[in-house]
Amino acid sequence: MKPILIIDPGHGGRDPGGGSNNQWIEKNMNLTISLYQYERYKQLGVPVAITRKMDQTLSPDQRTKLVRESGARYCHSNHINSGGGDGAEVIHSIFGGKEMAEKIASELRKADQNVRRVFTRTLRGETKRDYYFMNRETGSVTTTIIEYGFADSRQDDKRQLKENWRKYAEAVVKAFCDFNDYTYDLEDHGGKNVEKPKKLHLPGTAKSWRVYPLKVAPVIGNEKGYLNPAKFSGLTYDILGSPQSNVYVIQTRDFGKVQIYAHPNTGATIR
Ligand SMILES: [Zn+2]
Repeated sequence: MKPILIIDPGHGGRDPGGGSNNQWIEKNMNLTISLYQYERYKQLGVPVAITRKMDQTLSPDQRTKLVRESGARYCHSNHINSGGGDGAEVIHSIFGGKEMAEKIASELRKADQNVRRVFTRTLRGETKRDYYFMNRETGSVTTTIIEYGFADSRQDDKRQLKENWRKYAEAVVKAFCDFNDYTYDLEDHGGKNVEKPKKLHLPGTAKSWRVYPLKVAPVIGNEKGYLNPAKFSGLTYDILGSPQSNVYVIQTRDFGKVQIYAHPNTGATIR
């Protein structure tokens, strides 16, 4: 099937990318984010392609040719910024893509990443040519360059990207699905390449266990209610999905479908 979207993990191979620091190399962070999104889109039934799946050198010509010839309508080029700012930047072509870019920015904000700007830029002295080659050379494809944050931020981007890259990657998936009327949810629809554990068991020693609504971050303060495993000498649920590591979607009697945090050190077991 022809993809509607092609994901482009920026840089790769001999080109590490400037958005690197002592914690990560940009090309690898871009790839991690991109592969996560690639799997999520497949789960969600969105026809998707990707310019590279490994640490591979792609010249701008090779990269843009892959995008132009993919048959996709949209391209998301994933990057990490540098230059001393803080927050995400979303860049679209002078010829269009502003709404897509704004939608992505708005979902990133909802995922608690500040957005520095949504913008477009032309080549110096030329009003009809995009500055960035991914915007300029990708033909009729609507390409959005997403800078998730700054590698050299003096504020919180370094910590945020390390801890929350998955959340930001997911925010872009949601933006794209909403924008293009694909049903978005946090569940796994049985995508082939996603490992799917079967059952979650909460031990009878636990008296209360937080559960969270599906569309919020599963963190204290966002809970929908509490399960009481002790009352039932332990509780077992089918795992319906796993939006991030150690977070599961389960169907509960009292709260409906919810997310639950169940790191192994909580005493929960997966089998
Ligand atoms: Zn980059």
